[in-house]
Amino acid sequence: MKFFSAKNFLHEEHEQLERQKKSLGLKMNSVDRENLSGTIKNYFVTLDGCTCVDFQRRLKPCKHMYRLAFELGAFDLDAEKIDALLVATPKPVNAFYTPKYFLRAPVPKNFVVIDFETANDFKDSICQMGIAVIEGDSIIARENFFIRPPYKNFTNTKIHGITFDDVKKSPTFAELWPEIKIFVAGKIVAAYNVPFDMSCLVSTLKFYKLPVPNFSAFDILENVRECRALSRLANRRLITVAQELGFAHDAHDALSDAVVAAQVQLWITKNFPQTETLILSARKPSANRK
Ligand SMILES: [Zn+2]
Repeated sequence: MKFFSAKNFLHEEHEQLERQKKSLGLKMNSVDRENLSGTIKNYFVTLDGCTCVDFQRRLKPCKHMYRLAFELGAFDLDAEKIDALLVATPKPVNAFYTPKYFLRAPVPKNFVVIDFETANDFKDSICQMGIAVIEGDSIIARENFFIRPPYKNFTNTKIHGITFDDVKKSPTFAELWPEIKIFVAGKIVAAYNVPFDMSCLVSTLKFYKLPVPNFSAFDILENVRECRALSRLANRRLITVAQELGFAHDAHDALSDAVVAAQVQLWITKNFPQTETLILSARKPSANRK
C-alpha cells in the first residue's frame, strides 16, 4: 500500500479529509525516522498501515497515519486547506438503510420495537438487541440478546456498561439471525431514532453477507417530536420522555429502551388516536402485511 509516495486522490475524499482534520490534534508518542514509523497512544503506525481498528477495517489511511506522514514530511497538513476542501467535497450518504417508499398512515396496531447497543462507532458492532412485540394496546413479548460483535474495542462501554468480556462467549449476530429474523422479516419495525437502529441492522447483515429482508419502519422519536403534549420537554431523549410519562427505564439497556419506546408509542396512540406516522420501506410494501 503506497498511500503517500505519489499524488493520491484518495486524500481528497470527504472521509479522508475528516481524518486529516482530526490528525491535527494528535500527538506522536515516538517517531522512528529511519523506519518511517511511530506510535500514537497505543497504536503502532507506519505510512502503510496502523494497528487501529479504523485502518484495519477500511484499509485507508487513518488519522494516525496522516499524523505520522506529516511528521515525516510525506504529507502536507494545513487546517485552512483541509477546511476549504471539506466544504467543496460532498459528504457521502452514510445511511445504510435507504427507504424508497414513504407512506403517511395511522400508527399500526401491530409492530415490533427494536433497539441496539453497539460496541463502538461502527454500525455493525451490535453487542445487545432488545425487542418488544406490540399487539393492539399491549406488549405481548420481550426478547433480549447479548451479541458478540466482530470487534474487541468497546468505546461505548461508558454508555451501556457492556464490555467485550461480557459478550465474548455470546453468539454472533449471524448465529442469532434465524431467531431475530422472525421479529423483522415482513414486519413493521419501530425504533427510537430509526436511522440509527436500521443502519445497525442493515450494516450488520451486510457484514455477515446475509440478505436484508423486506420490512417497513417508523420512528417513535419522530412521533414524539410531533406530539404537542410533549413539546415542552427540555429534549426528546428517551430517558427524558420516559421520566415525563412515569415509565421505569434503565437507559441504554437495549431491552429496557425497546420496552420504554413501545410504552411511549402506546401512550401517544392512546391519548392521540388520530396520530399518523411516516412508514418507510426500502422495498415496495406488500398490500397484506401484518
Ligand atoms: Zn490508526
